[in-house]
Amino acid sequence: MKHPFLDLGAVNLPYLDQLKAAATRVIESGRYIGGPEVEAFEEKMQEVAATRYAIGVSNGLDALRLILRGYKELGRLRDGDGVIVAGNTYIASILAIVDAGLTPILVDPDPLTLNLSAEGILEGLKHGHAKAIMPVHLYGRLAWDSEMASLAQRNHLLVVEDVAQAIGVRAAGAFSAGEPVAVAGGLGDAGAFSFYPTKNIGALGDAGAVTTSHHDLAEAVRALANYGSDRRYHNIYAGFNCRLDPLQAALICVKLQYLDQENQARRQRAELYHKLIKNPDVKLPPLPSSACQMVWHQFVVTTPHRDNLARYLRHHGVATDINYPTPPHLQPCFEGREPFASASLPITERLCKELLCLPISSATPLPSIHHIAQTINDFSPTSL
Ligand SMILES: *Cc1c(COP(=O)(O)O)cnc(C)c1O
Repeated sequence: MKHPFLDLGAVNLPYLDQLKAAATRVIESGRYIGGPEVEAFEEKMQEVAATRYAIGVSNGLDALRLILRGYKELGRLRDGDGVIVAGNTYIASILAIVDAGLTPILVDPDPLTLNLSAEGILEGLKHGHAKAIMPVHLYGRLAWDSEMASLAQRNHLLVVEDVAQAIGVRAAGAFSAGEPVAVAGGLGDAGAFSFYPTKNIGALGDAGAVTTSHHDLAEAVRALANYGSDRRYHNIYAGFNCRLDPLQAALICVKLQYLDQENQARRQRAELYHKLIKNPDVKLPPLPSSACQMVWHQFVVTTPHRDNLARYLRHHGVATDINYPTPPHLQPCFEGREPFASASLPITERLCKELLCLPISSATPLPSIHHIAQTINDFSPTSL
């Protein structure tokens, strides 16, 4: 029996009729840029992130670029300002920082949560020129707590959340008590979402969103994404074309109705892995103190025998993935370039050698989870 890593056709199958109806509606509307479909999507995203504004954009990388460019246009960030970010993030987070003429301040993640922590922020602050932080809720785990929030506030750091992997993840417990806003995308100053097809809520192509409760940033992002124009044929910025298609907006809106179910399906699978995998050579990702703090974009195990385990699982019909085999600072595009060349990120580099992602989509059958867990339990470093 074959266990695919991710079958996107199967993920979208439950929504097939609704997706077809939405696509037909857009085709028949004659409106293919902007309009009511995009507006409906933006209203829905304001709800999802509990923010006053949401702007549909072309993809997650552009969402990050537009936020950072927006803060530069508003004079809140300047060329060369530092942005503290965990070194084990997907390269898109870093590309956005570099593209905006800012400097990434790369720090190691917490070795348990694999996320930026208060310690990481303190480490990053030693560099002096930090003006912003980018918590990336990697693998669907909330990268935010009260300690990080007060560090950001005390040091006047802009907080730009990379929510690409964590739509719907929430803060809980002490942190959310009395807080009006406690959902990813609304925790800091602005949030960047991606609807790349493999994300928890995937479009049928590229799509993204920016969320914020700051009116000035929302206006700047909206203008920048539309050639820098604040009204027709009037350009206040040298902007881009980073708009969201109404077709993708309509398709995503269908799936956003099922956000909680989709994330709940992932939680169920993660909890099952947790209950069933018992192999001393394979370390499991920690369960968060409250279930809402994790939406399990990936289920990431670590083992010093990673390549062996991946080969063994493939031999037993189980496809896995590695997110990511090479950290951004070691990619060829940054070779010999500072601050990448002199970055010291031992945890990040070890993780790249030890981590393995197991199948965890809403379409992964529960019997597959049982089979995969049993297969892992039968693994020994000398297997195969
Ligand atoms: C996917 C992803 C992005 C980029 O999103 P795209 O829509 O693919 O451009 C950015 N950051 C993280 C952490 C991601 O996983």
